[in-house]
Amino acid sequence: MNEEINTQNRNLLQVKNLKMHFPIYKPGIRHRISGYIRAVDGINFFVRPGETLGLVGESGCGKTTTGRCIMRIYQPTAGEVLYQNGGGQPVDLTQVQGRDLDPYRRQIRMIFQDPYGSLNPRMNVRDIIGEPLFNNKITNGKELEDRVADLLRRVGLRPEYMHRYPHAFSGGERQRIGIARALTLSPKLVIADEPVSALDVSVRAQVLNLLLDLQEEYNLTYIFVAHDLSVVRYICDRVTVMYVGKIAEVAGTEALYTHPLHPYTEALMMAVPIPDPRLRRTKRILLEGEVADPSNPPSGCYFHPRCRYAEEQCVVEHPELREVEPDRYVACHFAEKLALRGVESS
Ligand code: SF4
Repeated sequence: MNEEINTQNRNLLQVKNLKMHFPIYKPGIRHRISGYIRAVDGINFFVRPGETLGLVGESGCGKTTTGRCIMRIYQPTAGEVLYQNGGGQPVDLTQVQGRDLDPYRRQIRMIFQDPYGSLNPRMNVRDIIGEPLFNNKITNGKELEDRVADLLRRVGLRPEYMHRYPHAFSGGERQRIGIARALTLSPKLVIADEPVSALDVSVRAQVLNLLLDLQEEYNLTYIFVAHDLSVVRYICDRVTVMYVGKIAEVAGTEALYTHPLHPYTEALMMAVPIPDPRLRRTKRILLEGEVADPSNPPSGCYFHPRCRYAEEQCVVEHPELREVEPDRYVACHFAEKLALRGVESS
């Protein structure tokens, strides 16, 4: 990815050649490694301050693993996660260990997909939201309660709810509690991992609008992991499309949706619902075949067995991610040649 562009914009985060390979063990007492699942396989992208970057793709493409590597829930196999901490040199989070990670974990927080499983059912809301403040010795007692009350108000819940337990709340309210907890330590970067996919359609828009309001209020930067492309279009400034642990395309949201340059992106766009029922898609491009096995990916371009535009070169040569237009990156040998259809032209 173009270094010049990255350094000019002083990115909040830059991911370089990130790999996360999980070992596969042979059955038996010796636990020999028989191979690796290449969940993330050498990806490069950057996140600018104040933007929302979407990470999209089918299940198993590596988007959630990427978020977890940035959070250092996983220790990446290789690569760098450069975090711009203040005005100095960026810090490579992959090299920070143990308690030294604590300050960065305060600045980079996560919102989890499952609003039911992510909240401890034995803790009340005061303790769930206030725990990071207490654990980091920032505040306790009455001041902590005031902070929790303020956060509850910010996410649209009543402060008197703080003494209730998670089971007393709906899915949407629980996700608001999860968002409040993520904001407790005034983070800079929030990784939202499918934050609305477990919610009823009726409350999704409310939670998305809340995320947008909070972004403006707190000047937050989001990495938004999702598979629902309608949601991504609504909330993201730029989108990174992943396929089997690699990046297929990175572009501004509207450019990606109206004018995709990668055949995989085009196929994903065909699955985006058209809001006007009077409009019909003329020719739908169906994404056929299974997602490639990340422990044994195909040769050349990983997408070639499913790609309707594949040629001989695609079978033998892996396409590198390259800048084809300003701020636009694609990993396809024929990106400039293909005339692909976006959401509106489908
Ligand atoms: Fe399809 Fe070939 Fe492009 Fe891969 S490189 S997306 S197989 S045209």
